[in-house]
Amino acid sequence: MSDAAGFPRWGRQAACADDEVDAAIFFPESESESEQAVRVCRGCRVRLTCLEFALDTDQRYGIWGGATPLERARLLDVGRELGLFDDVGWSTSGSDDQ
Ligand code: SF4
Repeated sequence: MSDAAGFPRWGRQAACADDEVDAAIFFPESESESEQAVRVCRGCRVRLTCLEFALDTDQRYGIWGGATPLERARLLDVGRELGLFDDVGWSTSGSDDQ
C-alpha cells in the first residue's frame, strides 16, 4: 500500500523520514561509508519491512533495512540457495543484467 506520491505507507514511521536525518547518508559512495545510515536503520521500527521491500522491488542502490547493496545481494544469494526465491534480483556472482 502506498500514498498518493507512491511512497509506501510504512515509510511514515521510518527513522529516515525524520527531518533531522540527512537523506544523502543512505546513498554513500562506497560500502565502507555506510555506517552512519546503518546506525539510523538500527533504531528504525520498520526496518524489516524496509528490507523486505528492497528485496522484493530489486533496490540495487543505497541502504535499505540497514543493509548495503552487497549485503542484500548476499541475502538474495542465500535465499536462492535455500530455494526461497525463484529468480529475484541481482546476485554477488555478477551473472545478471546490472
Ligand atoms: S530501515 Fe533504514 S532505510 Fe529503511 S525505513 Fe528505516 S531508517 Fe529508512
